[in-house]
Amino acid sequence: MENGSPGIVGPPYSARLPAAARLLLLTSGKRITQVVHVVAELGIADHLADHPQTAAELAEVTGTHEESLARVLRAATTLEVLEELPDGRFTLTAMSEMLRRDNPDGVLDIVLLNGGELVWSPYGAILHTVRTGEPAFEHLYGMPFFEYLETHKDSGALFDKAMEHMSRVTARGLSGQIRPERFSLIADVGGGRGHFLRELLRSAPLAQGVLFDLPAVLPEAERTMAELGVAGRTKFVAGDFFGEVPSGCDAYVLKAVLHNWDDERALEILSRVHDAMSAGSDARLFIVEQVIGQPNRWDHATLLDLDMMLRFGGRERGLGEWRRLIETAGFDLVNEPATGGWAVLECRRNA
Ligand code: SAH
Repeated sequence: MENGSPGIVGPPYSARLPAAARLLLLTSGKRITQVVHVVAELGIADHLADHPQTAAELAEVTGTHEESLARVLRAATTLEVLEELPDGRFTLTAMSEMLRRDNPDGVLDIVLLNGGELVWSPYGAILHTVRTGEPAFEHLYGMPFFEYLETHKDSGALFDKAMEHMSRVTARGLSGQIRPERFSLIADVGGGRGHFLRELLRSAPLAQGVLFDLPAVLPEAERTMAELGVAGRTKFVAGDFFGEVPSGCDAYVLKAVLHNWDDERALEILSRVHDAMSAGSDARLFIVEQVIGQPNRWDHATLLDLDMMLRFGGRERGLGEWRRLIETAGFDLVNEPATGGWAVLECRRNA
């Protein structure tokens, strides 16, 4: 487990298999993803929470075609996502317990995002990106990803929930690395609904927070922060981080923001944060992102990097790339971040 998140720890095959079998298994990704997706999308785990059921019963409650559903469920049993009992009824396994809506450790929202059209379709057009360098998403949908989310509320809600889940499971460990109790005014730039800022403020009871994001995100953020009990210590500022970022804070956080942008745009965001920090102060910038590790080893960040490439032309970066970006923007990296997963890169102005 990486920082408390459900770690994906290796490639989806056993190294003991022959090379051709391993390769063919990799081309089964589409089948496996969609079997899991059907189980998730139809809420099968919730329907099985109380007692095992037959395919006919499950088809009835989910309003689906019985024989087709039965065949998907059978495939799910071979993946250990479900188990078929001797009497033909289906029951939950350790994995499908993770698809229950009421499981606080579950990963339903992430599974729904990964197998759903929003993430799924751009992978079908990956060769377009490889041939042209254009994000597959824009090629397919005719508009940038975040614009699509704003105009398609269901997709927007799905994406927000999955991101919120990721933020929640990673927040505790990452916040500890920042040691927020050192600071009195902490700005989370592109802070989303405020889950990470909440975690920081919880560890720093004397600090105040600034949540900075696009105008459309702020009402939701205010509601979430009020529920979390830290709205009283938080100022909500709507704006555009390519324009101006609130000045005079002693800590700035950019979490899962820079990976959405190419180097040129990421540099613009960093420069706006640089402008907002007082020269000569001891203010810190914390970039919270994945850091790609060594080649030839399993590294989930290299797959997330493809999501960024297909979705918005963004990228995950290795330590050398981070260092170059940070230094070009006028910061020094002052810690040694972990590689191969989420990391905190602590920076201060060098000019
Ligand atoms: N930091 C949060 C959200 C990351 S997603 C987390 O880790 O969960 C990127 C965030 O950047 C979104 O909340 C999005 O609304 C915000 N964002 C995108 N473009 C922006 C802009 N031009 N100005 C300010 N915020 C922006």
